Amino acid sequence: MPIFHTNCPLCDHKHISDLYLNVNGFTITRCHACGLVFVKERLTTNELIEYYNRTDGADYIYADPRNTENLSYYFRKLGKIIEQKIPTGRILDVGCSAGYFLDVMNNWERYGIEIPSTWADMAQKKYGNNIHIGTLEDSNYPDEYFDVITLQDVFDHLTNPLESLELCKRILKTGGMIIIKVHNIECLYARLTGRNFYAIIPPSHLYYYSKNTLKLALEKSGFSFDTSAFIGHTLFLKTIPYRLAQTNHSGFFFKLYQILDKTPFGNIKIQKNLHDIITVIGIKNS
Ligand SMILES: [Zn+2]
Repeated sequence: MPIFHTNCPLCDHKHISDLYLNVNGFTITRCHACGLVFVKERLTTNELIEYYNRTDGADYIYADPRNTENLSYYFRKLGKIIEQKIPTGRILDVGCSAGYFLDVMNNWERYGIEIPSTWADMAQKKYGNNIHIGTLEDSNYPDEYFDVITLQDVFDHLTNPLESLELCKRILKTGGMIIIKVHNIECLYARLTGRNFYAIIPPSHLYYYSKNTLKLALEKSGFSFDTSAFIGHTLFLKTIPYRLAQTNHSGFFFKLYQILDKTPFGNIKIQKNLHDIITVIGIKNS
């Protein structure tokens, strides 16, 4: 029998109710007090690692070297936002994959964390021991070590987001910046598509945030909320049906992706900003 959240994991309010039943076998629940949307079943890190291993967490978005330029488009924009506030220093990218974001941060002393995978090995080839293969929780950085910490497409996977933020606060310098990038559950596209919103993929994504719930998470962990931004992306045309397929690799959208993948049309570049991706910045004041 799974163990369920009985209170909101963010604001601890009891007034929660189910939003979508049986999405991949999980329940998506919403807090009426703060608006957090989350997977009701409580999973341990070991259960999640088992799930990732079983489903082969490989996502072509990161596996295809031709897609690196699309990823870098966002990363360069984020880099500029960071450097307007802090020109250089020591940066940690939590969930750094193969180090693609670190690759664009040339003027920085670069660190990354990634769970054991071929991506982690690729990152370590470039950045050596500055890449910790494991988790944020089993890393062991000194207090006040980093100027900037980024969590990109990571924060919604964490089992205990507030504890993770508190850990980030410990290793961040006073005046340092934390940056979180996740899917925005309150964008119009998510509202229109409901349970079919492409980012609703439990148990991979455990939490579904908005600007307000991200702000609350930052403030509860001792950060002050600085700004939020909707930074546009570029993507290949074939990525659209790939994302719409969610975890269903036998239906129409995945077949369409496979067809497009075999044609030059699939690699046509599209500019996208549906406000479905939100980036927030928090500052450690003390
Ligand atoms: Zn709540």
